[in-house]
Amino acid sequence: MPTAAFRTPVLVAGAGVTGSLTALELAHHGVPSMVVERSGGPPRILEPLLVNGRNMELLRRLGLAGDLRPAGVDPDGPVDVVWARGVDQEPLLVWRLPSVTELRGSYAASADGSAPIEPYLLIAGSRLAGRLRRALEHPLIDLRSRWTLTDLRTEAECVVATVIDAESGKRHVIEAAYLAGCDGAGSTVRRCAGLEMEDLGSAATYLTVAFRSAGLAARWPHPSAVITGGSTVLTGHDGDLCVAHLPLTEGDEAAVADPAGLLTQRLGLPGEPPEICAVAQRAGTPSVARSYRRGRVFLAGQAAHRAEPPGNDVDTCIGDAVDLGWRLAAAVHGWAGEHLLAGYEAERRRQALLDRELGRRAGQTRSRFQRLVASGADREVLVEILRQEAPQVDPAGTGPAGMSGAPGFRPPAFRLAGGEQFFDRLGPQLTLVDLTDDQGGWPLVTAARARGVPMRHLPMAGAPMPAAWCGRLVLIRPDQQVAWRADGPPPDCDGVLDEVTGVRHQLYENA
Ligand SMILES: Cc1cc2nc3c(=O)[nH]c(=O)nc-3n(C[C@H](O)[C@H](O)[C@H](O)COP(=O)(O)OP(=O)(O)OC[C@H]3O[C@@H](n4cnc5c(N)ncnc54)[C@H](O)[C@@H]3O)c2cc1C
Repeated sequence: MPTAAFRTPVLVAGAGVTGSLTALELAHHGVPSMVVERSGGPPRILEPLLVNGRNMELLRRLGLAGDLRPAGVDPDGPVDVVWARGVDQEPLLVWRLPSVTELRGSYAASADGSAPIEPYLLIAGSRLAGRLRRALEHPLIDLRSRWTLTDLRTEAECVVATVIDAESGKRHVIEAAYLAGCDGAGSTVRRCAGLEMEDLGSAATYLTVAFRSAGLAARWPHPSAVITGGSTVLTGHDGDLCVAHLPLTEGDEAAVADPAGLLTQRLGLPGEPPEICAVAQRAGTPSVARSYRRGRVFLAGQAAHRAEPPGNDVDTCIGDAVDLGWRLAAAVHGWAGEHLLAGYEAERRRQALLDRELGRRAGQTRSRFQRLVASGADREVLVEILRQEAPQVDPAGTGPAGMSGAPGFRPPAFRLAGGEQFFDRLGPQLTLVDLTDDQGGWPLVTAARARGVPMRHLPMAGAPMPAAWCGRLVLIRPDQQVAWRADGPPPDCDGVLDEVTGVRHQLYENA
């Protein structure tokens, strides 16, 4: 292997949603990165993506929420999950997600601090990917488009990656302290690092067809996921663009060659065949990597977990990127203990396992519905079954009720007397919220700074804290989760810092 031509603290493989956000999170903490991306432009994701409120809070920290919001669907309209026997049939039941505007109002009125300060965002996937790609034009981010990572080896102090530049055909060697494998479902990083996926059940095959149909898009007044017998059609997120996920069985091979015919037949579309924009056949089963890490190599996003289409896993990807980004930044800055890096896999794999099961549950609801429709069940039976299933979209994503403010969870949100959001005062590194009358948090802040641990001191005695707030000293980590709390200065500041920085044990894991 030739000697390294490039050196970077963090090499990010892949500039999809996960890779872009990992690089942006690193930059937020002042850490430069090099991003290698196989393709020339952002990924073409035709589906709408729903980013929950909690992740919008995290994107707000990066200054992205305001940029993305105008690219989302109409904030004044709700989003519907429509259950119907066919696209030409009346809905049997609609699960309605309130509009962004409506949620903004109800979140503002909520007093317990559990509501996110940003409502969800429903956005065409390509628009999200495009805006994030533009955000990579950042002085700390060196984006190399059409560079494909082909190989890597890990050494004690670094990772050495080989990439091919498609334009020149040249092979380059990049040496990095850490490698973030954000290179999607077919991850080369995962393969080269010898990390395996663990599948849940047998593989299902879907044909995803993006097509234009003004008639179909106009059938529902709001952005909708229309679930018919076995198919799901997404509409209303991008003009007259519709996206259908059609389950395939063994006998369907021939039909795949004629997606317009298959659509017409499956959905019972009247009139002219629809204009097809893109077709993708995907076989897969929900899966999660058995391990997210080998030494200095980490997996994130679709490289680490896959949802069953039409699954919603963009939230898991965003969470990975933020979590990995701040931890790697701490490691590059020299204040991360080994347990802090280990906490990435512990926290994010747990989340992926949870999301995999929730995705499976949603798939089972669709299968049950399909089975009953095929068996000729009448309207009452179908409606009764659906009524017994809870709507399976959580637009807030702020975590389990009652855990707000506990170590490992998000602190309660509230507005300061001047109207400013408390969350906007946090970060970018650790923040010590100090409610003591005599600024009793100073010894901890001083001890942190003496160790090179960046910590903001936020004196807030007399602030209008919500009732759920616990602790007069609350240390909040860079991703706005509580790291430690107490009612008075700790007798052993270094002991607290050992835990918080992962020198001693994994305080950073959700309890
Ligand atoms: C077709 C499709 C449909 C989806 N539908 C939904 C949906 O309905 N709902 C939902 O929530 N989520 C959906 N997702 C997932 C959602 O888009 C992802 O959560 C999000 O895009 C983040 O994915 P990622 O960045 O981890 O991976 P990807 O989006 O796959 O990005 C990986 C990037 O890595 C690049 N790359 C790959 N190999 C290399 C290499 N060797 N070297 C350099 N670069 C490399 C690729 O070109 C790509 O840009 C869908 C994804 C796809 C691909």
